[in-house]
Amino acid sequence: MVKTFIGGELRENCYIVSDDSSKEAIVIDPGYKEEGIYKFILENKLKVKYIYLTHCHFDHIYGANWLKEKVNAPILCLDKELDNIQNEDVTMGKFVILEAVTVKPDKVLSENDKINLGSLEFKVIHTPGHTSGSSCLYGNSMLFSGDTLFKNAHGRCDLPTGSINSIINSIQQKLFNLPDDVVVYPGHGISTTILEEKQNQDFEY
Ligand SMILES: [Zn+2]
Repeated sequence: MVKTFIGGELRENCYIVSDDSSKEAIVIDPGYKEEGIYKFILENKLKVKYIYLTHCHFDHIYGANWLKEKVNAPILCLDKELDNIQNEDVTMGKFVILEAVTVKPDKVLSENDKINLGSLEFKVIHTPGHTSGSSCLYGNSMLFSGDTLFKNAHGRCDLPTGSINSIINSIQQKLFNLPDDVVVYPGHGISTTILEEKQNQDFEY
């Protein structure tokens, strides 16, 4: 089951993905402190195994420490994003919500590491470009793409550690190699599919 919450200054998507039989769950990008997220976890008796951060920006990490205290689950990110996530100049919070936001992950993962929730399995894909250590989670015909790939757009590349060449490379070489029917759950906006983005995207600029 995938449950989407939308909130925060920049209307960020926070996803809760759970295995129906074991009730094991992961919370992806809790970017704001929303009681409704915790309430949903309690009401559905979910066992949150992990909190995963696709990248360092404040609108994706702001609620991570808050949620961790409530559900007692470790915060994970890709190893290549560890420095960014602990650097208030790169997480950008102080420039937008006037608060220095950083998170200290409990564990870092490497590209291709697996995350298991009951019978569900997700693989970590390193997709640099939006930030140097941005990552996506892929499995069970779903891709949680953070701010790398949106419906009809890729993430911006003008923020610290961003790179337009890298994001195009990440999308074309990695994400577009996934099966066409994979549903893409982005960090902002509505979901799409790999096929739709292959057909719609124009990266020639
Ligand atoms: Zn971002």
